[in-house]
Amino acid sequence: MNKLIDTFGRKHNYLRISVTDRCNLRCVYCMPHDGIEWKKKEQLLSYEEIFRISRVFAQMGVDKIRLTGGEPMVRKNLEVLIEQLALIDGIKTLAMTTNATLLKPIAKHLRSIGLTALNISLDTFKQDRFTAITRRDDLANVIGGIHAAIEADFQSLKLNMVVMSGVNDDEILDFVEFVKDKKMNVRFIEYMPFKDNSWKLDKVVTFQEMRDRIQQKYNLYPLPTEASAVAKDFGIEGYPGTVSFISSMSDSFCGTCNRLRLTSDGQIKSCLFYPAETNLRDALRKGITDQTLEEMILYALTLKPEAHPPAEEIAAADNRAMIEIGG
Ligand code: SAM
Ligand code: SF4
Repeated sequence: MNKLIDTFGRKHNYLRISVTDRCNLRCVYCMPHDGIEWKKKEQLLSYEEIFRISRVFAQMGVDKIRLTGGEPMVRKNLEVLIEQLALIDGIKTLAMTTNATLLKPIAKHLRSIGLTALNISLDTFKQDRFTAITRRDDLANVIGGIHAAIEADFQSLKLNMVVMSGVNDDEILDFVEFVKDKKMNVRFIEYMPFKDNSWKLDKVVTFQEMRDRIQQKYNLYPLPTEASAVAKDFGIEGYPGTVSFISSMSDSFCGTCNRLRLTSDGQIKSCLFYPAETNLRDALRKGITDQTLEEMILYALTLKPEAHPPAEEIAAADNRAMIEIGG
């Protein structure tokens, strides 16, 4: 039975866990220009604490966990956590979102210990653009990571591209062409505002615009999706690859949101765009029981708003930066 039902009747079965706020890239849309103050090791949840919280969430109805960050793979011995989470009763999907810079040598191993799904973030195939967007020079490693992931045969493999007008929107078709012959999906993500991420409304390329551009060359047809899916999914006529759009800005999906977030320092965030947090870490360290942990999680759910505020308000709000939440 799912106990994770909020004030507006939404059922939550999906937990996104940030394992670190650190990253080896500095994407302009994610990491504030002046950087962030990294959390100290003791502020982060330990793997034991993440495991315990995840087990309680699974008992309450979560069946899908995604590891994110910062860059999850910069945290030491991440495979130890993955192995433990994969064994939790009730977890059907164990996913990770990564920039893939560190993926190549370990992709097969992660698949073999129970990671089922992988989303890899890449916004350009061009070297100079990659360096401008990520402020690092790591494109070759990312491409190597993507090919290793293809070989490792994950149940689900997706590319995430944040589309920004005048920055990389001329590469939309290149991404469609990259996935079209593979068992792979590309997700075009509308640029979202966060604290100090130089977001501007005129840099957003909407779902409709992206779709129209692709339709000029390929025939897209809608695929059936779960009610809670955040992506609008499409097949590409004549090809195995698929295309999706995350339209958080032009057509928000708050009404069917099934996600909860656990930050690397142990706060539950019930909404990506809303500052309210519930501190599980300090309570855990005071020795609370699983029963109290459940009650705190239910309290966090009561803080979830019906819908996120308009984009300009989000951009001005005192929320965490994206790199501190994990998407
Ligand atoms: N480091 C990992 C990565 O890049 O995949 C995981 C963390 S990252 C914060 C998770 C996802 O959020 C990435 O796909 C990234 O492209 C996306 N993201 C970050 N900032 C964004 C923004 N302002 N708008 C839309 N998507 C964003
Ligand atoms: Fe790092 Fe991912 Fe944010 Fe880029 S999007 S700075 S890779 S956390």
